[in-house]
Amino acid sequence: MRWSKHYIPTRKETPSDAELISHKLMVRAGMIRKVAAGIYNYLPLGMKVLRRIEMIVREEMDRHGGLEIKLPIIQPAELWQRTGRWNDFGPEMFKLTDRKGQLFTLGPTHEEIISDLVRLDIRSYKELPLLLYQINDKYRDEIRPRFGLMRSREFLMKDAYSFHADQESLEEIYQHMYKCYCRILTRCRLDFTAVEAPTGLMGGNLSHEFMALADAGEDEVVCCQQCGYAANLQIATFHAAESYEEEREEQLTLVATPGKETAREVASFLKVGVERIIKTFIYATEKGHIAVLIRGNHELAEEKLHAVLADPHLARIDDEQQVRRLTGASFGSLGPIGLNMPIIADQSLVSSRNFVVGGNKEGYHYCSANFGRDVKIDRFIQIRRAAPGDHCSHCYGELVFRRGIEVGQIFQLGTKYSVALGANFLSSDGAERPLIMGCYGIGVSRILGAIIEQHHDEKGIIWPTELAPFTVIIIPLSAMGEQLAVAEKIYIALTQAGIDILLDDRNESAGVKFHDAELLGIPLQVVIGKQSLATETIELQRRSDSEKLSVSLANGITEVVAQIAKEITKTEE
Ligand code: ATP
Ligand code: MG
Repeated sequence: MRWSKHYIPTRKETPSDAELISHKLMVRAGMIRKVAAGIYNYLPLGMKVLRRIEMIVREEMDRHGGLEIKLPIIQPAELWQRTGRWNDFGPEMFKLTDRKGQLFTLGPTHEEIISDLVRLDIRSYKELPLLLYQINDKYRDEIRPRFGLMRSREFLMKDAYSFHADQESLEEIYQHMYKCYCRILTRCRLDFTAVEAPTGLMGGNLSHEFMALADAGEDEVVCCQQCGYAANLQIATFHAAESYEEEREEQLTLVATPGKETAREVASFLKVGVERIIKTFIYATEKGHIAVLIRGNHELAEEKLHAVLADPHLARIDDEQQVRRLTGASFGSLGPIGLNMPIIADQSLVSSRNFVVGGNKEGYHYCSANFGRDVKIDRFIQIRRAAPGDHCSHCYGELVFRRGIEVGQIFQLGTKYSVALGANFLSSDGAERPLIMGCYGIGVSRILGAIIEQHHDEKGIIWPTELAPFTVIIIPLSAMGEQLAVAEKIYIALTQAGIDILLDDRNESAGVKFHDAELLGIPLQVVIGKQSLATETIELQRRSDSEKLSVSLANGITEVVAQIAKEITKTEE
């Protein structure tokens, strides 16, 4: 393509709302434009790379036995009401009404629709297993759409769904999809890790997330250096680092802590370590309220609480008025002493003494509180997140903490959707059973952002060759005369050789052309200038390093094309 005929509106300014480098570069390189919060136009360059990722995903899904379908974006509310997710998804769903007053949603995901589809078509175990997938837009009204394509409200996802007669078959396809995802992400040149993951709103009993490692990632993952155990921080298990000395129980005292609300504020006011402070949370459950206690220096792992209690009604009370009605205290003075409800404490509190808890009286805390004597604990369980210093729960190895961008997630769903929607099959023993399901999502547009997050420098994007919008950019420093004539010849010859090229035939300064070429990140630059022509050479420059190579024009264009082709293979390494 000739730049003069293309639509590549590069920009010098970065958008004021862009926090991430990938977002900034995509706007500056003329790949995307914002329409509204979390909603984007894709320009030709953005579209081209998106299609390349899509192609990799499609090839790998087909190779792993997937059958491509297309499901509707507009989905009837009724199906969602039957699985209970109309309420569970809550405000994250875009909801709409048709002219007859019927309710619909813009699909945030497609488990309901697909279960309803196969319900009518799959009759017998003989038709199983079945793996269906689509590459389609998803709609989620995210609380904080940000980071450009990474957390948008309209985004492209590949979602796949598998159907099985038994658990064994589900496990087999799940492993298959795990490998498929590793291949996709490797081909996308992402540095990633697969981690054990919470199942959240999808449900089911086993899940893995695929995390592209990046400091800008919103997720935290924990990996064992020794045995390879890796999990999302929300659910990572561990051997606790702490060991506390035996202490004598001191006398309980109520002290004024005016205006001190957070654990750190209270700790520094009372001149004690923050680990001595206990944070108290109130949760609603099916059978009433419970209090949950952890140390001031720890983070609560709500997913673990969900896993242990297995109570669908479990929800943190984050309305201060309600907490005040239940306990008489605001969040800052909330504590377990005198509470009339079951209390669960983190495992790390089991043998510790003399801690500080909220006084359930505005502006007061108790010092030297002790379990047994002052507070009765119903259960001690591990409900905190792992922290630096903790060890691997499998091999006691060292745990490292890293940040990641969740680019994909796979789930063993079981029968949650088939039971709710009546998707049954006739098993080999003649009994009617609900289909066993798996689902597998990969964020195609998020991958686009993640690749740039991992492949850029201060000048712009550095595309891996398989994903680049063009393989080669030809830059005649002047868009006239002999330089353009040589450029045109090389352009035609490379095009005939099937190489995807951009010819920068714009009447711009050499500075602007170099600047834009680096911003766009095309793997190989072919530079034709006055000086080089004087010596009958052109210059090749890889985007990924500073090495330059002179190629003689004396042996004819065919030889030049051969040299360029050789150089392209080096950019692929
Ligand atoms: P997150 O935790 O980041 O909100 P999720 O766990 O809700 O994501 P899934 O339901 O697992 O997302 O969807 C599958 C994939 O779709 C994710 O792994 C991610 O790559 C992509 N994805 C999810 N939400 C968004 C979004 N708002 N914008 C872009 N991609 C998204
Ligand atoms: Mg997910």
